[in-house]
Amino acid sequence: RTADLTSLPTGVPEALHDEGIEELYPPQAEAVEAGLTDGESLVAAVPTASGKTLVAELAMLSSVARGGKALYIVPLRALASEKKAEFERWEEYGIDVGVSTGNYESSGEWLSSRDIIVATSEKVDSLVRNNAAWMDQLSCVVADEVHLVNDRNRGPTLEVTLAKLRRLNPDLQVVALSATVGNAGEVAEWLDAELVQSDWRPIDLKMGVHYGNAINFDDGSQREVSVGRGERQAPALVADALDGDDDDDQGSSLVFVNSRRNAESAARRMADVTEQYITGDERGELAQLAAEIRDVSDTETSEDLANVVAKGAAFHHAGLASEHRTLVEDAFRDRLIKCISATPTLAAGVNTPSRRVIVRDWQRYDGDYGGMKPLDVLEVHQMMGRAGRPGLDPYGEAVLLASDADTRDELFERYIWAEAENVRSKLAAEPALRTHLLATVASGFAHTREGLLEFLDQTLYATQTDDPERLGQVTDRVLDYLDVNGFIEFEGETIKATPVGHTVSRLYLDPMSAAEIIDGLEWGAKHRSEKLRALAGETPEKTKREKTKREKTKREKTKREKTKREKTKREKTKQETADDSTGFQRASEMVSAGGGGDGNNCGGDADDSGNGDTVEEFETDQTYPTPLGLYHLVCRTPDMYQLYLKSGDRETYTELCYEREPEFLGRVPSEYEDVAFEDWLSALKTATLLEDWVGEVDESRITERYGVGPGDIRGKVETAEWLLGAAERLASELDLDAVYAVREAKKRVEYGVGEELLDLAGVRGVGRKRARRLFEAGVETRADLREADKSRILAALRGRRKTAENILEAAGRKNPSMDDIDESDAPDDAVP
Ligand code: ADP
Repeated sequence: RTADLTSLPTGVPEALHDEGIEELYPPQAEAVEAGLTDGESLVAAVPTASGKTLVAELAMLSSVARGGKALYIVPLRALASEKKAEFERWEEYGIDVGVSTGNYESSGEWLSSRDIIVATSEKVDSLVRNNAAWMDQLSCVVADEVHLVNDRNRGPTLEVTLAKLRRLNPDLQVVALSATVGNAGEVAEWLDAELVQSDWRPIDLKMGVHYGNAINFDDGSQREVSVGRGERQAPALVADALDGDDDDDQGSSLVFVNSRRNAESAARRMADVTEQYITGDERGELAQLAAEIRDVSDTETSEDLANVVAKGAAFHHAGLASEHRTLVEDAFRDRLIKCISATPTLAAGVNTPSRRVIVRDWQRYDGDYGGMKPLDVLEVHQMMGRAGRPGLDPYGEAVLLASDADTRDELFERYIWAEAENVRSKLAAEPALRTHLLATVASGFAHTREGLLEFLDQTLYATQTDDPERLGQVTDRVLDYLDVNGFIEFEGETIKATPVGHTVSRLYLDPMSAAEIIDGLEWGAKHRSEKLRALAGETPEKTKREKTKREKTKREKTKREKTKREKTKREKTKQETADDSTGFQRASEMVSAGGGGDGNNCGGDADDSGNGDTVEEFETDQTYPTPLGLYHLVCRTPDMYQLYLKSGDRETYTELCYEREPEFLGRVPSEYEDVAFEDWLSALKTATLLEDWVGEVDESRITERYGVGPGDIRGKVETAEWLLGAAERLASELDLDAVYAVREAKKRVEYGVGEELLDLAGVRGVGRKRARRLFEAGVETRADLREADKSRILAALRGRRKTAENILEAAGRKNPSMDDIDESDAPDDAVP
């Protein structure tokens, strides 16, 4: 009984009771028995919706009651705020909750006053790298969806982060929540944790396959759902759930498909079904919801979503704006939206139970696999687990679709009778180790090769592998890479991070991205003059001839000076690294000490005439590097997901590539270097998206032109902002004069505006569109906002008084009130 939970803060057991949690679910009770509330580590491998969150809360709350501090690691950023909101209900019992998202390069000192902290594993990793002091006070850490250690991209971070946290505090309680997987025991062994494993669910789940005119369920029962000639299975199943059983209970459906486009087209079909089931009242509410959706953004996706929502259906995928996602999820939980067609992202995390789950597509295109690949059992089980709303449905139904009897039998074998796969560590891969080994050295967890291997021995990989040699081999290759690129250096047995290496680790960059950025900026500095001439329209041949003549005399002298300077720089660097015994050093100190790291090792030819300052300036107004050049540079790093080239794109971007050639920070690969050239073009496509964004092209135009969703634009913009911020830091640390250009390019990406709007767009509440309208009405700066005629401002803001007042207040105007201002008094030129 919940009343027996004496180790919780006062009032909490009663509050749980009031929430309707009168008794612990069996797996929860088992967890408490295993010592969950006494600080015991635990792996809970139980099905979706069986109350894992409460398991986490019990552990965290009792840990805090004992004077500790808890950390909850979420797998997706979108889930961080959702979890925080959930835990905030404990604030009235004296528990402070904080969420740490955003900016990687900070230690979030304010979090030290919080009792429960929510963050992604990437964020936690970066907090460790930035030496957050409160890390030492952690007594309990929860890893949500720990089976994601199996994920090639994100798994290693979670794995290494857990290993580091445990090393910082050997008594740390680790609570790992997992879907049912094949080898939960192995995960528990890795974490020295108790294991609670169960198939128990709060509501029965019937799994089946629809084929012909009926669903065959795993319990042997059948339900007739006939599909008329020319009809499709999924809409028929959605209609059937809405028809309900004898009681007039209408059931909602979740339809899982394999791509965004399919989610959108399926939603259109489902809307024709749901439309027939909505009442008059609902129609009104749905129309209102559709209007809210259109208000979020005026993109095609927004419009398409609003159109289906008006009819009681929706689609859900990672290309949606997060406001859209929340609106859709809430309305589905409120039973206003009757059907969502979704890509599998919905299955991970978000709590959207449904009467019926239809797994329409159980295969997905996989480039590495070279075709359609069946989904993992684990993934399909997680989708199916969304079926059944406790308290609303008698049971949940999860249905796969087959078009012939053989497929029906295969689906039963493959998914319904099958156990979920084992999770396997993906740590022993170079990209993962590249970043984690540098961080491990930089934040002082290990100082030698042996130390590193000993640290790695605490990972799941070590628990699982039967080839212990392999980790050592990959480690050697990676250390070599880091050394050659100047991120670490060896002094005998001892490995140290160079100042640049420290920065890269703290910036949370993949060292390969950092090397690419450094290379590119140095290359740009070296070719600055020649490229500026090309941009000004001079032919490369002419430029080259002149340059050679002019420089020949200078070169010898410059070279001598340069070598001298490099040498002092290197000495200094050595000195600093030696002093830097803690492994932590303020970046500003490094910058003022004249830059760090042996820049030449990171790229460029060691004895070249080098930086821009040694070459005679070419007089021009052109900034260099150009924004496009910088966008392209960060887009070709492994930290940016590039846009794919679609058919026809290769020609388009090849042409563009030659047109914009002088702007690139690096040599364009030959067209015969197939892969490299293709990558270059994908980066160019992504860079032009960013260029359109800062060129104030409408979001809807961008989504059309690149075939992406509004959420993707946000994603690219955020990543670019982060990478350009990192580039700015590297440039200033390496004394490259691109710093100003990089900062400018970053700011433009941040606000999505042209250079002349930067000042305005920085005012809270303005944004890219309003900035342009204000500018066109003659209100061009923050200062203008404080001084210009109010009626002019109001007219430019299309008469929105509240908005105008907020903006004026943010701009620091003394009396922002618009109460007696008449927009029609504005001069004619104030109405854009
Ligand atoms: P999971 O994280 O395992 O997918 P959740 O933690 O979201 O599942 O729990 C699903 C639902 O069950 C939540 O609405 C939660 O409030 C409810 N719940 C959890 N434990 C209990 C309990 N012991 N008694 C009643 N309801 C519970």
